[in-house]
Amino acid sequence: MTSDSKRGALVVISGPSGAGKTSICNELLRRIPNSRWSVSVTTRPRRGTEVDGQAYHFISAAEFERLRAAGELLESAEYLGNLYGTPRRPVEEALARGEVVIMEIDVQGGAQVAQKMPDSIRVFVLPPTMETLKARLAGRHTETAALQAKRLAEADGEIAFARSSGHYPYFITNDILEDSVNEVLRIIREKTG
Ligand code: 5GP
Repeated sequence: MTSDSKRGALVVISGPSGAGKTSICNELLRRIPNSRWSVSVTTRPRRGTEVDGQAYHFISAAEFERLRAAGELLESAEYLGNLYGTPRRPVEEALARGEVVIMEIDVQGGAQVAQKMPDSIRVFVLPPTMETLKARLAGRHTETAALQAKRLAEADGEIAFARSSGHYPYFITNDILEDSVNEVLRIIREKTG
């Protein structure tokens, strides 16, 4: 076995809030045997159903700044007034073990990962229509109406940035979850051989 065959893969999933990124990531984690979720740090308040350490590590702004200053974050961004970042070490260690790391980050973070890790597989998830996006955001009942509106207002800019930046070689339209998951699996296979 060559050392190359043990190399892992970094899969970056981005897209507007409500596009269905989390559902896609959960299915990828279920279906790819040696995959792991990159647990981000965030200063966003924890939602009722969220468990600290699972989707996110919920930390203070001071702790976030400490991590960023110490070079412990692979990338970081501010989204609607909250800070989000990817702890660097767990990603590097998992990749060194040959695992497939899956992360869900915004487009600013995606741009940073594209520069630092050009071999990463970056996929942007689009909603079938903006109406669908609105309906999905409203249907999940995790944000207030005001916050849903803010997230929706971000969507156009995120999509425009993803298209113009060139950092996302792959765009998928998430209409039927099963099809989207199969498409991302096909992309990963294509890229990792
Ligand atoms: P949410 O508050 O809905 O969990 O996430 C808001 C946005 O932040 C989403 O676009 C999500 O992909 C993004 N996000 C989550 N974790 C990270 C991270 O570690 N880094 C960056 N740059 N964005 C993140």
